[in-house]
Amino acid sequence: MLKESKIGRRWTDLLSHQLDEILISNNRLGRASFKILGKWEEQRDELNSLQEHVKDLHSDMGALKERLSQSNTERDNATAELAALRTSVSSVPNPLATPHGLILPPVDFIDLDDDCIMVVSPSENTYAAATAKTKKKREDFPRLKTPKAQEPAKRARKNDTPVNRKPETKKLAGKQKAEAKMQARARSARAGPRFEVITGDEGWKDLRTSIEQKIPNPKVRTVKSKNGGIILFPEDAETAAALRRTSNLIERAPRKPRVIIKFVDRYLERETIPWALSQNNDLGIGESELPHIKPLFMLGPREGHVVHWVVEVAPETLSKIEHKSAFLGMTKCRMKFYDSVTQCYNCQGFGHTAAKCNTTQPICKHCSEKHDSRTCKSLAKRCPNCRSTTHNASSAKCPARTTATRLLIRRTDFGTQALASDSP
Ligand SMILES: [Zn+2]
Ligand SMILES: [Zn+2]
Ligand SMILES: [Zn+2]
Repeated sequence: MLKESKIGRRWTDLLSHQLDEILISNNRLGRASFKILGKWEEQRDELNSLQEHVKDLHSDMGALKERLSQSNTERDNATAELAALRTSVSSVPNPLATPHGLILPPVDFIDLDDDCIMVVSPSENTYAAATAKTKKKREDFPRLKTPKAQEPAKRARKNDTPVNRKPETKKLAGKQKAEAKMQARARSARAGPRFEVITGDEGWKDLRTSIEQKIPNPKVRTVKSKNGGIILFPEDAETAAALRRTSNLIERAPRKPRVIIKFVDRYLERETIPWALSQNNDLGIGESELPHIKPLFMLGPREGHVVHWVVEVAPETLSKIEHKSAFLGMTKCRMKFYDSVTQCYNCQGFGHTAAKCNTTQPICKHCSEKHDSRTCKSLAKRCPNCRSTTHNASSAKCPARTTATRLLIRRTDFGTQALASDSP
């Protein structure tokens, strides 16, 4: 029994041990299989998600397909609409504004681009055809058959000069008007005395302090002249008086007005002209005015029994005789303000004579070159004063002359000046 039990125990021990072993390995196996199972599940999940993704992609594709079909239908609709529009454009005649007026049944189809209008497939009802029709209509207008009636029209068409000339003369008249206005303004402007500085730039500083000691706030306009000298224009009587008391200044009184007396008896003597003028009682020239009437020079042709006299007068005399007539000797004379500027024969400049000219070499009045005008052989014209190639320096049209004339008027005393000096 013991033996039996001993053996039995051994066997049970052994069996239990084996069983343990089996259990352990079984556990191991279970764990491993569990691990594998986990991995498999993981992979399955992944696969599932991938499948989902594919499904999504499929649905996206479906939506896209739907949209494509939608836009296809839209395109079809648009094409149908366009076709309808085409038919409506060709069937309903819209008036078209053209240089020939409104044209009613004109166009087959017009492609309107950003910047062009194109007539497509021109037929009889197109714009071009319509304009051709109007042109034809115009030509069909019955012409005058009488040659006399036809002639002037022909001539007018040949040289449209009257039509072309009109605005030009208008323009010129406008220019003249503007210049007349400017001259009038120059005339009404106060022409005061001017003072020339004789010391030059070196003495100018001392002169300035000298003036400023006499008058604290001198109202004076300082201008540099062409040849570098300094000229002072006092703006009020006080300043003018102060300048008169200053040494190294030369006062130049404003220019006295000049009058041209036209068509005077050639044999009337220079000295008798003022007296002869005063004998015209309707002019009202007083005794005191006679000494201020100074005949300067004669103008006009050498032959002939009448000449023009240029005389210098006092401002008040000018207002009495300007634009009036007077009997001098045995002729009736017209009197006008003389605004012709002195022109130098040597340099063609204005305001001085050749005797006082500073230019050593003569300047040609025809071509601006440095030679005597009388020896000029140039064919090209060039005015030395304004560089124009349409006139020479003696032209009345020269803008430089116009400016010089205006400046002369501005410098002339028309009796409006308030800064008169004591000397006559
Ligand atoms: Zn000169
Ligand atoms: Zn020349
Ligand atoms: Zn000119």
